[in-house]
Amino acid sequence: MLNIALFGPPGAGKGTQSEFLIKKFNLFYISTGDLLRKELANETKLGLQAKSIIAKGGLVSDEIIVQIIEKTIKNNPDVNGFLFDGFPRTFVQAYILEGLMIKLGTKLDLLISIKVPEDESVKRLLDRGKTSGRLDDNEEVIRNRLREYHNKTLPVLDFFKQRGNYIAINGMQSIPDVTKDIIQVINDVLSKKLINIVIFGYPGSGRGSLGKALAEKYNLEFVATGAMLDEEIKKKSKIGQQVKELYETGQLVPDEIVIRLLEQKIENSKGVKGFIFKGYPRTLVQSYILDGMLRKHDSSINKIFDIQVDTLELIRRLDKRSKTDKAMPYDSSTERIVQRLEEHKTKTIPVIEKYKEIHDVTVIDGTPPFEIVFKNLCKEIESSFKNLVSE
Ligand code: AMP
Repeated sequence: MLNIALFGPPGAGKGTQSEFLIKKFNLFYISTGDLLRKELANETKLGLQAKSIIAKGGLVSDEIIVQIIEKTIKNNPDVNGFLFDGFPRTFVQAYILEGLMIKLGTKLDLLISIKVPEDESVKRLLDRGKTSGRLDDNEEVIRNRLREYHNKTLPVLDFFKQRGNYIAINGMQSIPDVTKDIIQVINDVLSKKLINIVIFGYPGSGRGSLGKALAEKYNLEFVATGAMLDEEIKKKSKIGQQVKELYETGQLVPDEIVIRLLEQKIENSKGVKGFIFKGYPRTLVQSYILDGMLRKHDSSINKIFDIQVDTLELIRRLDKRSKTDKAMPYDSSTERIVQRLEEHKTKTIPVIEKYKEIHDVTVIDGTPPFEIVFKNLCKEIESSFKNLVSE
């Protein structure tokens, strides 16, 4: 997700810039001012409560703001990110925004402050008042809105300066120049943001070869924990020896070992654009581990695929593979194939179900030929990460 707040005095150009940014970065627009005006037009209870305050140029209560934002977010759960305009407007709302982001499992990436001197604000708002039809675009109310801005809204900046995600833009330039500056700072953030994809599917669904091909196409690191463990055994490393003993005695590899390998992988992958996880997480515990590990690296899962293939087709594919040189050690017998399918069903399906509650899980039909499934995956990635994958 990409979450941005546009900040600045009334008339700074937040609305104008927003129109362009939401299209370019595929964001969901939340303007508390627009939402309030909608409530007002529909004469709702909230609208009526807010009316006289808006007319005077004061700030509507934080309680009302929370309610309209919650309502909007609840009605639009699967978005790429939010662009906030006119929120947060008080010190309290800065905390509210942080809490909201935590609830959504994400964070505010950037608060962009468009700087414009007071005289310019007044001039622009009076100009706008000639055509906007807004009841608050007249001189007396404008002065009051600016007073509110200085007294209550400016202190919000301190909060985000401390958080380290504040950036100022000169708003006294032409509209396209302001846009250019904003795009530049957003692109800087995007270039540092990791794309983390989890690819689920039954053994034989093609998740391994599809994941590898995606990783190559988008310059992501392919992370397959099974293969990483095999690698350690081959290298005869200390971990490898431990794993070998566990394998030989039929025991599961403990999560501690896999965590260490994953941490090493992330550590050694500086400069990559992100990760594709295959075969991990496999259990509910591992799903918590992965979320925790990514959070530790100031990142999160941004896309989850579930590649679905009919069970009979899976068995047909795994049986076919067992007779080629691509055979995995665990493809050797029907019994083992069935055991692996069963393991996925009992342990990993609950993980997918859990993810469905908190993330968007994209189901992809894995039955068609490889190229077609791959193309469908690419289409999904490119629409989710519009500007993340374009360069
Ligand atoms: P705007 O369209 O952002 O200029 O907002 C118009 C009016 O709506 C403001 O002058 C406030 O009365 C009210 N308003 C909008 N957003 C907020 C907010 N986040 N907190 C309190 N009041 C707001």
